[in-house]
Amino acid sequence: MAKITLDNLAHSYLPNPKGEADYALKQLDHVWGDGEAYALLGASGCGKSTLLNIISGLLVPSRGRILFGDRDVTRDDTVARNIAQVFQFPVIYDTMTVGDNLAFPLRNRGMDAAYIAARVQEIATMIGMEHMLRRKARGLTADAKQKISLGRGMVREDVNAILFDEPLTVIDPHMKWELRSQLKALHKQFGHTMIYVTHDQTEALTFADKVAVMHDGRVVQLGTPEELFERPAHTFVGYFIGSPGMNLIEAEVSGNTARCAGHVVPLGGSYKPLKGRVQIGIRPEFVTLAAGDDGLPVTIRRIEDVGRHQILRAEFAGNPVNAILPEGMPVPAGANRLKFRRERIGVYADDWRVAPLHAVSTPAREAV
Ligand code: ADP
Ligand code: MG
Repeated sequence: MAKITLDNLAHSYLPNPKGEADYALKQLDHVWGDGEAYALLGASGCGKSTLLNIISGLLVPSRGRILFGDRDVTRDDTVARNIAQVFQFPVIYDTMTVGDNLAFPLRNRGMDAAYIAARVQEIATMIGMEHMLRRKARGLTADAKQKISLGRGMVREDVNAILFDEPLTVIDPHMKWELRSQLKALHKQFGHTMIYVTHDQTEALTFADKVAVMHDGRVVQLGTPEELFERPAHTFVGYFIGSPGMNLIEAEVSGNTARCAGHVVPLGGSYKPLKGRVQIGIRPEFVTLAAGDDGLPVTIRRIEDVGRHQILRAEFAGNPVNAILPEGMPVPAGANRLKFRRERIGVYADDWRVAPLHAVSTPAREAV
């Protein structure tokens, strides 16, 4: 097990990168704690696999260093780094049995036969293939083969880290949940450092202690699921996490008020004068619908019943704004205003969250 340090890391696939746009990974400085479960979350093409392959040693970065503990491993291959990696699609030996596939990484390391047999049995049970150990892998479904890949990734107890690159893509939806829970249980039991790449926020938030949200070659925030929800550091995090994501409205901010298309919105803190494109961000969970003169005037487009609650889709000054309303709550007659819980409003300048100078004191649950 090891703490993983990314020191001044950057990567371009081009031989002579010029500007920032030529880099698949922009400047990265991070420490990944020993024994923690991380998710790397972001849209397709944002650099997740590039970063994972640099950590595992499949790719040498164009700039910077990777340390495991205090050891510089930047030029070491995957074997020297002692890492297990599971890919999106199955990597197994078709001519071997399921059991031999699972045993392979252990035999390779010269473990004794009794240990191997017991460990293979344990992992086979975990992936639900304990009755198939003697079958040849050839002819199994993609789903079954991927479970074997997962098993092979998890079979060694002595690895520095286990890396997963969208490992559940070809897995049947009902089995996905099951395997994700198994991975989490395995992490609890053995305490390996795990890094799990996904574009699916539910997968990331349920699996990981900490989630690194990537956008356009950068880790824009590394935080707990709560932190990503409560205080998105970047508008992308606000928008990408949540269902629906955070509302963003262009604003002019002065002191503790914002003006949005001429309407005043009281903020939960006081801000210094801001430069660049300024927006306020509020999650739909903290938006309420009202009649009267307060709040932003909106046009209600539709209401979706999603079971646990309703999603109100509205429009303000040409921008979509969503609110989450309690299950079964009727829309009050004449309600055409949206109000925001002031202490839940974030302020963003050129997409990055700005800290207030000081918070305005309000009762915790007051809706303003
Ligand atoms: P993700 O895994 O998040 O989908 P990738 O790390 O695969 O993203 O890709 C990041 C960027 O690098 C993309 O623009 C992709 O087209 C580019 N890229 C990935 N692999 C290569 C490669 N082998 N050669 C050149 N460009 C690549
Ligand atoms: Mg990828």
